[in-house]
Amino acid sequence: MKRVLLILTGGTISMVKHQQTGALYPADLATFKTYVPELATGNIQVDTVSFDPLIDSSDISIHDWVKMAQTVYDNYNDYDGFVILHGTDTMAYSASALSFMFEDLNKPVILTGSQLPIGVLRSDARENLLTAIEIAAEQDADGDALVPEVCIFFEDKLMRGNRCTKRNAEHFSAFKSYNYPSLAKAGVHITYNIHLVHYNDPRATLKLHTRMDCNVAVLKLFPGITKNIVHTFLNAPGLRGIVLETYGAGNAPSRAWLYEELKDAISRGIIIVNKTQCLTGSVNMELYEVAQNLVKAGVLSGRDITTEALLTKMMLLLGECEDNNTVIQMLQKNICGEITME
Ligand code: ASP
Repeated sequence: MKRVLLILTGGTISMVKHQQTGALYPADLATFKTYVPELATGNIQVDTVSFDPLIDSSDISIHDWVKMAQTVYDNYNDYDGFVILHGTDTMAYSASALSFMFEDLNKPVILTGSQLPIGVLRSDARENLLTAIEIAAEQDADGDALVPEVCIFFEDKLMRGNRCTKRNAEHFSAFKSYNYPSLAKAGVHITYNIHLVHYNDPRATLKLHTRMDCNVAVLKLFPGITKNIVHTFLNAPGLRGIVLETYGAGNAPSRAWLYEELKDAISRGIIIVNKTQCLTGSVNMELYEVAQNLVKAGVLSGRDITTEALLTKMMLLLGECEDNNTVIQMLQKNICGEITME
């Protein structure tokens, strides 16, 4: 029998309706399990562990990422796959962070949640959960995991976790992978796009990286942004890395002061990476003069990475690498499928 470890962290999926008041509250693990009797009776052995207390994912911190990653790591040899139940609000950040924390992952780690709580009649929770478990247990004829990646499964799609963004606060299709196709689609059957899956050497052993530096920030450009704001932002004490959200193919206003501020920050050791505000497409700083100025200032290209993936990749590299040059080199490399290299 295949074995899957279900890690319950919280989020809407774990909430049930109070019988008297009708209000939603986070259930405990035992109550949660009563809503999914299939967990005990299916043809996959599902063991469960739970955060205590369960948390709204808006409260997620790097300590919670370490807790999730450590739970997978400690139980790695005992299970075929892992499912993490998580609130939707920050799921794309957690999936991205976990993808970088694991090196040489060879088993599925599938994050899922729901838009409606498990205890609500029309909830999408049961389907998301049960399909995620099935995917986490799926193996090929040699007994190797079919999708040994950190993924998000939501509504009917299995997506690479570090390619996802939460795009909808209302509909069941809460997540989209804008720059990379889905790894699988669930209908009557689950159809896998095996050629799109990232595989590590199956003989390699899992390594866990947990040192992260939170001194990073997102600076989103907008017409009218002032020198004062940019200066104050780039001079925040302790700042080490910036995701610079630019226009279109990676463009910024051609104001001399902006380039001077960026150049000054880079000369002080702050790493700045260009990420387009567009959801689909890639940064191309060769296209327009206004972007070439960014290159001259020393800004790196984030290509088609998501903001969630770029932020968490920076956090991990700044925490783990010995020096800035290694961070810069690694930021421009594809580590686990988070960027398209051409
Ligand atoms: N606020 C909730 C959370 O992210 C929303 C959800 O789960 O959909 O935990």
